[in-house]
Amino acid sequence: KHQQHDVIIIGAGAAGLMCAISAGQRQRGVLVLDHARKAGNKIMVSGGGRCNFTNYYVEPNRYLSRNPHFCKSALSRYTQWDFIALVDKHGLPYHEKEEGQLFSDNKSKAILDMMLQEVADAGARLRLKTDVQQITPLPDTAAPYRYQLTVEQNGLKETLHCQSLVIASGGLSMPTMGASGFGYQVAEQFGLTVLPRSAALVPFTLQPEEKELTEPLSGLSTPALLSCEPAKGSKNDKGKPREGMSFNGSLLFTHRGLSGPAVLQISSYWQSGDTLEIDLIPGLDLNEHLKELRQTRPKAELKTILGEHLPARLAKALCEHWFDNTTISELSNVKIEEIANKVHRWQPKISGTEGYRTAEVTLGGIDTDELSSKTMEAKKAPGLYFIGEVVDVSGHLGGFNFQWAWSSGWVAGEVV
Ligand code: FAD
Repeated sequence: KHQQHDVIIIGAGAAGLMCAISAGQRQRGVLVLDHARKAGNKIMVSGGGRCNFTNYYVEPNRYLSRNPHFCKSALSRYTQWDFIALVDKHGLPYHEKEEGQLFSDNKSKAILDMMLQEVADAGARLRLKTDVQQITPLPDTAAPYRYQLTVEQNGLKETLHCQSLVIASGGLSMPTMGASGFGYQVAEQFGLTVLPRSAALVPFTLQPEEKELTEPLSGLSTPALLSCEPAKGSKNDKGKPREGMSFNGSLLFTHRGLSGPAVLQISSYWQSGDTLEIDLIPGLDLNEHLKELRQTRPKAELKTILGEHLPARLAKALCEHWFDNTTISELSNVKIEEIANKVHRWQPKISGTEGYRTAEVTLGGIDTDELSSKTMEAKKAPGLYFIGEVVDVSGHLGGFNFQWAWSSGWVAGEVV
């Protein structure tokens, strides 16, 4: 004997919960399954505990995807303003941190509780600690039911049938929080292309020779301009030369390497072999500046001058590891050019990233060519939908990833 459901959603994260709300509001019978003990684990830890739930400036160019047009339809049909209206309806306070990033004034739990309240109000049911062991397409004679799921909870196996099956199991980052490759396996089972995945919005680790400078600076952050220069001859997945990318923002020195918003952003574009270039004093022409000061303040020490534009600890470290701390008057033109070059074009030797352990998102995933951008339904498997991070759409840091989860979840919920 099997239970019958209109819609089964696998994954009670941001996308799955939003899909449950929109489908439930259409009076569809919705069951959300998750193997974790709690729903919305990533919402809980997001935004440093204050959930950066969306961004005022959501634009398709804030997303990485092999098909940059794919995200447009969902993002325009369930927008940041729709989500803000939901937050307002619940009377939850929030603030703009920078560049349109909206954070909850209260703990992230407020946003999760809001979602769970909406799920309950829409009449959708949630079943946690449930493993999905098998998915089988049903024969046409079972119509309108299309998929059979074998699930296990507390050692008990059960068979469920559904008309629509939504995969919202997220990406690979933070396996300790329930992340799994489940969605990719389902896609492969149904013959859908899954594009290569990698950890993104992730700190860099540095080669040992850099650590002499960076390790003692651990915890220090400074504004910087980061650029990624693709390795010579490196091509994108369409066979075209890859383009460089730059981000302005905070650079944070860590025990293992480099982090901070600008580093996380550029990590989504960096591939092994690329050059990362860091301008530690963006907006200043240090070459000109030092030559001027050689006339006006010849007795000033280099450390002091650098300290006027950098945190003092960093200026001191640079004068210990990179330069000799002399007075400006002693610097030749060549020496000044060398100093300016190093400060404006530091190319730290990167050994890699911290990987999925600390990455905020997974790049790549279900090839968007396999899905309808309007409904998120798989073209080859009617009734099967993929939403959220499992799809090859990844946002920049700043609330864009949740907005993709909300938007893709909502549009699927309107048709399942
Ligand atoms: P998820 O939210 O990951 O949900 C997937 C769900 O599927 C999970 O509940 C998981 O338990 C379940 N699942 C997985 N495998 C199975 C399986 N085999 N069977 C059953 N269930 C399964 N984005 C922002 O926009 N703003 C932020 O402030 C922000 N902060 C972040 C902070 C951290 C530390 C991290 C890791 C990410 C952050 N992100 C942020 C990214 C954001 O959390 C994700 O992009 C978003 O959660 C993706 O939503 P999703 O529903 O697709 O997947």
